[in-house]
Amino acid sequence: MLRADAVRKSFGDHEVLRGISLDVHEGEVVCLIGASGSGKSTFLRCLNLLEQVDDGDIWFDGTEITDPRIDEDEIRRQIGIVFQAYNLFPHLSVEQNIVLGPMRSRGESRETARERARTLLERVGLGDRGSAYPDALSGGQQQRVALVRAIAMQPRLLLLDEITSALDPLLVGEVLDVIRDLRREGMTIVMATHEMSFAREVSDRIVFMADGQVVESGPPEQLFTAPRDPRTADFLARHR
Ligand code: ADP
Ligand code: MG
Repeated sequence: MLRADAVRKSFGDHEVLRGISLDVHEGEVVCLIGASGSGKSTFLRCLNLLEQVDDGDIWFDGTEITDPRIDEDEIRRQIGIVFQAYNLFPHLSVEQNIVLGPMRSRGESRETARERARTLLERVGLGDRGSAYPDALSGGQQQRVALVRAIAMQPRLLLLDEITSALDPLLVGEVLDVIRDLRREGMTIVMATHEMSFAREVSDRIVFMADGQVVESGPPEQLFTAPRDPRTADFLARHR
């Protein structure tokens, strides 16, 4: 479904991505792990065309999306992204936050968009919070709304960037539960996370990045119990 081939990206003279390649199959959950600054967020932003790659290319569903002629908005409708800080619009209710995208960029009627918003909110345990404003919600609830807002666009691929790292530890579990559900439903997900035990449990494949490169990748059991590269072993020893 997704193929990144030798992606390079620099900011000024700092090369942040130094030839990253990644294949993701439909229905797969892939976790990116690695020290802060290793390039995980930049890579996810490139996949969603929020950053322009300097070299290499990215294919999504057989289309080269790094082709300059591509319709970026169309790609972003199909590739959802959720960030660490909940970026809900504070002046809109939960439901208004969710229906905005489907109405504006998918041309859905308010009724259709609302109906799906309600169903999705119900599924993440927030069925009664549609009319609340974001600041009345806990961080975990806001992040669940941010996930619903992304899913309401019916993306084919979901990118999640450390979506639990700003949360009170007590609220992390409720957000991870939503990701577990999405996985069960067959959503294709690429996520950066520092929740190692969750990464191990939920992913089909773990990709360990360091200094803008993929050091190694493999099934969680292999990577966690028998890392091939000493840098992976060192990182895992420090992030139990
Ligand atoms: P990670 O998500 O793994 O912590 P990032 O992709 O956020 O890594 O950052 C990788 C490197 O790129 C860091 O050194 C960071 O400072 C740098 N960087 C990220 N975004 C920018 C930017 N917009 N301008 C300049 N440097 C950036
Ligand atoms: Mg990051």
